Amino acid sequence: MALNDLPLHRLLDLLSQGEIRVAEVIEELYRAIELREPQIRAYLRLADREALLAQAQQSTQTPLRGLPLAMKDNISTTEFPTTCGSQFLKEFRPLFDATVVAKLQAAGATLLGKTNLDEFAMGSSTENSSFYSTHNPHDLERVPGGSSGGSAAAVAAHEALCALGADTGGSIRQPAALCGVVGLKPTYGLVSRYGLVAFASSLDQIGPLTRDVRDAALILNIISGHDPHDSTSLQIDHPDYTRELDRPVAGLKIGLPSALFQDLSSEATECLNDWKRVFTELGAKLLEIELPHCRYAIPTYYLLSSSEASANLARYDGVRYSARANDRSLEALFAESREQGFGPEVKRRIMLGTYALSSGYYDAFYGKAQRVRTLIKQEFDRAFAQLDLILTPTSPTPAFKLGEKTADPLQMYLSDIYTVPASLAGLPALSLPGGQVEGLPFGLQLMADALCEEKLLRAAYAFEQVFNRRQP
Ligand code: GLN
Repeated sequence: MALNDLPLHRLLDLLSQGEIRVAEVIEELYRAIELREPQIRAYLRLADREALLAQAQQSTQTPLRGLPLAMKDNISTTEFPTTCGSQFLKEFRPLFDATVVAKLQAAGATLLGKTNLDEFAMGSSTENSSFYSTHNPHDLERVPGGSSGGSAAAVAAHEALCALGADTGGSIRQPAALCGVVGLKPTYGLVSRYGLVAFASSLDQIGPLTRDVRDAALILNIISGHDPHDSTSLQIDHPDYTRELDRPVAGLKIGLPSALFQDLSSEATECLNDWKRVFTELGAKLLEIELPHCRYAIPTYYLLSSSEASANLARYDGVRYSARANDRSLEALFAESREQGFGPEVKRRIMLGTYALSSGYYDAFYGKAQRVRTLIKQEFDRAFAQLDLILTPTSPTPAFKLGEKTADPLQMYLSDIYTVPASLAGLPALSLPGGQVEGLPFGLQLMADALCEEKLLRAAYAFEQVFNRRQP
């Protein structure tokens, strides 16, 4: 087994015992990247190997000991351009680092590179990147999921030890599920959004994609916490998320919204039954629950996220940031720059969002979607008054073929059915590997009440231990 095959926490143990050197880990990561990256294309930009080795040498006494991490390319970095997968920002280099980047670097992490994504994080397959598509390491003809598909593929192909992603409606969890890695979307406000390029500000949240649950807890410890630069950042002290991982989960009450599982294939249903058995054996209590308003989660999410996107993306006008069309009048410059700079999916969302916010339609669309969002939040509040966790698949299907859903945006949107409810309610949710469907990774999702990440990680960890013991 090569060093880049190990999770971060194992490498940190070996480094602290003096058994390996960080340079060896970096060498092996680059070897994997050289070998696999030409087919997978997870990265948009990679650090120079020699520079990274030199930086890592300076950090050997820090908590993360100079180990390199990958970053989704909508998280601002001064070291690399931050493109958001868009022609509009292809040369854009931020003037400051995102808070999560600063926190990780202060803990001794180095930056391995920036990963591919759907343009401005709009998509479920990474095919909306305006540069190129990323391929799923488990089957190169399939998508890695999206929008953090580059981050998920890099971690799954062992081209990164861990990566940060961002999740607005599932963009950490769904690619994690499709690539067979762990992905955590924290409670809204737990992790600073400062320096994350805004898509839908009331939903966006940064989180880790990792090889295992302990690594997710370890990274969450570093990136969470109050940030005066983000007015939605929560003023709370967070616990050490790694400390309670080993505590038993017996007695936890886990809800199953079975009405949402009707369209699953028989193989997916078998997986679901297996997950139920594992949690029952662990001593958890499974309860049937109803989340009737979650049926409306997809239209609600797409109306609200597109409305917010239409406002957030107004700043790309050809005057500020990078791409600028050559035109004589100011109006034409705005229009031409936007026409040339944005890809089709981004334009579709701006049109949809602008329409939903326009004066004649505001109440019927945006206002109504806000009201349904409140109903969904209240539904979860009621559920979590009696439950600890909710269990669903992360995505209704495993990874689909490249090109399979590009012609039909609605089909693409439907793959977010299980992930968008937690986003609308601001709740933490985690995806972890849960077996195979059609020979491909199939993930389960656990959701918890706001700020119950500790419980979420503990249940995921217990599940992971049982699953790992089963591997031949
Ligand atoms: N697939 C969803 C969308 O296209 C989620 C994206 C995200 O979480 N950034 O909007």
